[in-house]
Amino acid sequence: MRLSQMLFVTLREDPAEAEIPSHKLLLRAGYIRRIGSGIYAYLPLMWRVLKKVSQIVREEMDATGAQECLLPQLQPADLWRESGRWDTYTQAEGIMFAMTDRQQRELGLGPTHEEVITTIAKDMIRSYRQLPVHLYQIQTKFRDEIRPRFGLMRGREFIMKDGYSFHTNEESLKKTYQDMAQAYSNMLRRSGLQFRAVDADSGAIGGSGSQEFMVLAEAGEDEVLYTEDGQYAANVEKAVSMPADAEPSPFATFEKRETPGTETIDKLCKFLKCSPTQVVKNVLYQAVYDNGITVLVLVSIRGDQEVNQVKLLNELTKLAGNYQAKNVLFLTVPDAEAQRKWAAKSLPLGYMAPDVADDYIAGSKEVNSKFLRLVDRTAVDLTNFVTGSNESGYHVVGANWNKEFLLPATVVGVRTAKKGDRAVHNPEQTLQSARGIEVGHIFQLGTKYSQAMGATYTSEQGEEMPFVMGCYGVGVSRLAQSAVEQSYDKDGIIWPVAIAPYHAIISIPNISDAQQVEVAEKLYAELNQSGIETLLDDRDERAGVKFKDADLIGIPYRIVPGRSLKAGKVEVVERATHKSHEILIDEVNSTLKQWIEAAVS
Ligand code: ATP
Ligand code: MG
Repeated sequence: MRLSQMLFVTLREDPAEAEIPSHKLLLRAGYIRRIGSGIYAYLPLMWRVLKKVSQIVREEMDATGAQECLLPQLQPADLWRESGRWDTYTQAEGIMFAMTDRQQRELGLGPTHEEVITTIAKDMIRSYRQLPVHLYQIQTKFRDEIRPRFGLMRGREFIMKDGYSFHTNEESLKKTYQDMAQAYSNMLRRSGLQFRAVDADSGAIGGSGSQEFMVLAEAGEDEVLYTEDGQYAANVEKAVSMPADAEPSPFATFEKRETPGTETIDKLCKFLKCSPTQVVKNVLYQAVYDNGITVLVLVSIRGDQEVNQVKLLNELTKLAGNYQAKNVLFLTVPDAEAQRKWAAKSLPLGYMAPDVADDYIAGSKEVNSKFLRLVDRTAVDLTNFVTGSNESGYHVVGANWNKEFLLPATVVGVRTAKKGDRAVHNPEQTLQSARGIEVGHIFQLGTKYSQAMGATYTSEQGEEMPFVMGCYGVGVSRLAQSAVEQSYDKDGIIWPVAIAPYHAIISIPNISDAQQVEVAEKLYAELNQSGIETLLDDRDERAGVKFKDADLIGIPYRIVPGRSLKAGKVEVVERATHKSHEILIDEVNSTLKQWIEAAVS
């Protein structure tokens, strides 16, 4: 491609709309253009990158025996009602764009495809003999993200590879899951990324596991906790660790103490001169289940620990049956306005005890009249602890479970693991923290969707059995941008060779120099012919401008037919290192071939 004929517009200044380097650079270098909130046009250079990433993904998927297909983006609401996700996806998470057609039928724009693929399997797979099967697609997904940001990292329209596998048993699922873990590692390695596979939250499905593939970068929205020995890595949403030991309590007898202005643990511990590990704090949450019932949840946890909302949500989903519900729609810390809807009188916030009375709740058809009381494991073994008194300005000290306070029947593990904690597998290892961009997620689903949607096959024994399923997603557009987030310098993007839009760019310093133009044209034709994807900067611009642009757009090799032409040579500059080589014109092709092969192998 000749730059003189391309839609080629670069910006010298950082666009105000962008916060992180990769977003700024992709805008400045003319790869993407914002059309609306979380909506981007992939311009020609970006589209080439996306096609390259897709091709790597495709090759790795095909190598595992998965088959590519293309599923509809418009999805009937009925399918989502069958799986029980219509309400959660259109209301709670609100992530699905929903609409009504002219016949008043409801539809959604696909944020993911479990429902569609399960319907197909239900229709087409009758017998165990047809299993296992694995289908995948590379396609645009739609999600009405609450906070679209960082360009392609969190868009409302983005490209994903999603795959779904069907099996007769867990063992077969595990095998495909392992193959996927390998395929995903291959994809990321081939795309030139530094990444880590981490244990991930599988939501309330439980299942036998899920892993996320995290590209390591400061701008990552996820926190990864890992140990130096390489034995453990997990998303903080899922991570487990050993909490620090509790210090023995200095309070031997139970009594109520005046503790004015101590609504935080910090202030309380300073005032009472005790350790947060001797305090039981009681944190209030409000859950709304999918049948509209609001449940007030009181979590008692050790004072130095924080509740992990993802873990809490999973526990509350397990308890949904107690409230004749299936799922949790919302989980929040109720603010003053939320409290007004159900509080019978004003709550002793900051001073609540594990036994705060149920008559604070004005029960109704929509509001469960009793607190759901949960205790985190960290609080169970405490003795002579400090906790609230249910009266503002007062705490109790020297309290004990099943003496002054009934230990809640439901013990849960909902604490947040954090950097510095001792690892479970080896207490000598401490957890380290890093930021990551989730580019892939592989998942053992089990029978959640097949059971809900009645998708069965006939087993070898003649029984109707639900499919055992797995699903596997890669954010193709997010992956492409995360490569930039990991690889740039003050001059611009440094694409990994495997996913660069072009391998080389020939920058003609002076287009009125006939010899320069002649050599450039010859190399341009020759290189492209031999499969080295090459741009020709034949614009009527100063050499300096051309070199700056070549650096900004991040093409791995820049070829300059300049002063060294006299010696039958051109200058070849490596983008990543700015290293310059004088190479004989006749040897440019073979040299670049070698370099490219070495870089992508
Ligand atoms: P996140 O936690 O970042 O919201 P997710 O868990 O909802 O992602 P999945 O449903 O597992 O994502 O989707 C598979 C992959 O699709 C993710 O690993 C990610 O790479 C990509 N992806 C998800 N949401 C977006 C988005 N809004 N923009 C770009 N890529 C996305
Ligand atoms: Mg995910």
